[in-house]
Amino acid sequence: MRIGVVGAGILGLAVARELTARGAEVTVLDKEDRVGAHQTGHNSGVVHAGIYYQPGSLKARLCRDGVALLREYCAEHRLPYEEVGKLVIASTRAELAGMHRIAGRAVENGVPGIAVLDGLGLREIEPHAVGVGAVHSPHTAIADFPAVARSLAASLDVRLGRPVRAIRETASGVEVLAGRSRFAFDRLVACAGLGTDRVAAMAGQPGQVRIVPFRGEYLRLTGAAKGLVRGLIYPVPDPRYPFLGVHLTRRIDGEVLVGPNAVMALALEGYSWSKVSLRDLRGIAAWPGTRRMAVQHWRTGLREVYGSLAKRSFLAAARQYVPSLTKEDLARTEGGVRAQAVARDGALVDDFAIDRHGPITLVRNAPSPAATSSLAIARHIVGSIL
Ligand SMILES: Cc1cc2nc3c(=O)[nH]c(=O)nc-3n(C[C@H](O)[C@H](O)[C@H](O)COP(=O)(O)OP(=O)(O)OC[C@H]3O[C@@H](n4cnc5c(N)ncnc54)[C@H](O)[C@@H]3O)c2cc1C
Repeated sequence: MRIGVVGAGILGLAVARELTARGAEVTVLDKEDRVGAHQTGHNSGVVHAGIYYQPGSLKARLCRDGVALLREYCAEHRLPYEEVGKLVIASTRAELAGMHRIAGRAVENGVPGIAVLDGLGLREIEPHAVGVGAVHSPHTAIADFPAVARSLAASLDVRLGRPVRAIRETASGVEVLAGRSRFAFDRLVACAGLGTDRVAAMAGQPGQVRIVPFRGEYLRLTGAAKGLVRGLIYPVPDPRYPFLGVHLTRRIDGEVLVGPNAVMALALEGYSWSKVSLRDLRGIAAWPGTRRMAVQHWRTGLREVYGSLAKRSFLAAARQYVPSLTKEDLARTEGGVRAQAVARDGALVDDFAIDRHGPITLVRNAPSPAATSSLAIARHIVGSIL
């Protein structure tokens, strides 16, 4: 069986590896000149333990399975994987109910080692943090997702600089025009992240959701301030959104990130305010779900835009958890753009979404924790096509 995979992000590469392991002949096509160029190379680097997700959802199941597979993969390939642990901190009494809900969910999802701590207990874990209580997840880890992607790619047939421009179903499978080359496959799997809608349209399957790009901006801690955070410090998330709120994250290279916020980007690959694409914006605005989402969430949207423009808003968010931080401790660093699917009614699609149409499988929504879950999502997808 010859199978094409669109996208050399961590998910496309994981799918290609799983297909190869089951005997298929696989070619991965990506438009960029390197693997992991988009979401895979621009994220927080957290191996989520599965704390937040709706029990029974694909996210809940594939995140737990994904953690085990990723830990094993990193050990086998000598890639960094550190269980630095995570605190989800309630900074006011009003947040305690939400914090206990999170703890209950984590236990229901089978996350190991979950403990609820009071204000003293959390300082034993993170001596510079404050709060009235916290959920502690000692096995939440950090990894180097771009390195995982490069390692996966090393044993695969990956063709870079090949933007997929046309897809045609044939009597025997699928024909793909990528760059100037034509490929004939029996099956095609698309894991195109921010490019999902375009690939879906080429396949004649526009579907019932559209990708809206949400930029996540980060600051990093400088100098001695890096020593103020041992592991991962997260707020109690707002249950209305799939985003986890501005957090402090120790990275595998020793940097500590503060972020990400969530602002709607002005281009699918809109890594800064100056990157604007009228073509992308027309497509995003034409989707009824975008307008409905804007009407429902404009207040939060404006707050996030303000936070994007003013460093002090980031500082305020971080100081809620680590009060000794000052403005001088923060410097800007590069961010990422999330490919978040939005439904026709304006709802942000929470779960992973994968559709199959004959020989073509389309990943429609693979936001966080899809990097964590990638090896398990790959098994899930491959199980349905082979
Ligand atoms: C700010 C931020 C923070 C995050 N934090 C975490 C975290 O801590 N932990 C976690 O588990 N997850 C996190 N995520 C989510 C995670 O990064 C993504 O879920 C994951 O990387 C998705 O992988 P992917 O392969 O589907 O997408 P991508 O890595 O975006 O790959 C898609 C690929 O498709 C290619 N492509 C698109 N269109 C075409 C085309 N027409 N032809 C050829 N190629 C094409 C692109 O070039 C790209 O390489 C975060 C994401 C962001 C943005």
